[in-house]
Amino acid sequence: MRTIFGPIPSRRFGTSLGIDLSPGKKQCNFDCLYCELAAAKPVDTIENPPSVDEVMSELTIALQEHSDIDVITITANGEPTLYPFLDELIERINAIKNDYKTLILTNASTIHNPNIQTTLSRLDTVKLSLDCVTSECFKKLDRPTQSVNLESIIKGIETFRRIYQGEMVLEILMVKGLNNSDEEIEAFNKILPKLGADRIDLGTVDRPPAYPIEPLSYAELHQIAQKFDPSLPIHIASRHQAKEAQGSYSDEEILSTLQKRPLTLNDIHTLFDAESLKRFQKLLEEKRVATKQVGTLTFYGTDFSKQKSKKISKNS
Ligand code: SF4
Repeated sequence: MRTIFGPIPSRRFGTSLGIDLSPGKKQCNFDCLYCELAAAKPVDTIENPPSVDEVMSELTIALQEHSDIDVITITANGEPTLYPFLDELIERINAIKNDYKTLILTNASTIHNPNIQTTLSRLDTVKLSLDCVTSECFKKLDRPTQSVNLESIIKGIETFRRIYQGEMVLEILMVKGLNNSDEEIEAFNKILPKLGADRIDLGTVDRPPAYPIEPLSYAELHQIAQKFDPSLPIHIASRHQAKEAQGSYSDEEILSTLQKRPLTLNDIHTLFDAESLKRFQKLLEEKRVATKQVGTLTFYGTDFSKQKSKKISKNS
């Protein structure tokens, strides 16, 4: 099959069957330093896109073979919203998807476009990348074409949130020396609360990158996560979860950590040593630790009722 891949297990989104809308070669309007695809000059259009009929016929066969998946993921060797027949494709996927969820992984470059907003609003989950919120950082790290503008992306996400009823996930990929400065995090803290994301995945480079750059360690990622506004639904999404990050936490330290930043069970297993895990379990049984479900992930915190709701009213 040319356009379908997987299933691929994903902790963040469940078991996924992927659709590649640029199967021949990388075609993207960014050339991110961390891209797992080889470096390529950014472009504004996808040449020789597969037809909707081709994608749908391969998807129908793949769904018969892999009926136990959770989600159909629209992606590309590049940027899937550059695919010219995206609206028709999503309409046809929705007609056959039954109980499967639908997801798109986009770099957010076209989210200011009202037609793209309408198209994406028909999906269950939209994951938008937002690695930088200052122009200098954006140009250095994501290296977009001239036609892409960071201000439009940020405004586009904000307006999309007003019409979109599904789960909106933002992803920030941290690269050492590029977007992990205190200034950039401060700028994120001014902008992210306005965007109303259901979840913000904070990750780092964990596949061989297109250019020589350095990832953050899991411990550094965790430290950075503490600097974000505590009302933001930050989730650390990294496969770099080294054993050495594990430490001893008293009851008070566990509670104050969870109060500052709700964690997933995976984060907890990564951060806490065996004794601290037992203390955490006891606090959970005593109901001093609360849980909250966001998509497929359970977060552990102290009091979710006190979390400010930053979601913008869909009617405003
Ligand atoms: S947006 Fe995605 S596909 Fe495009 S260059 Fe960046 S990482 Fe690669």
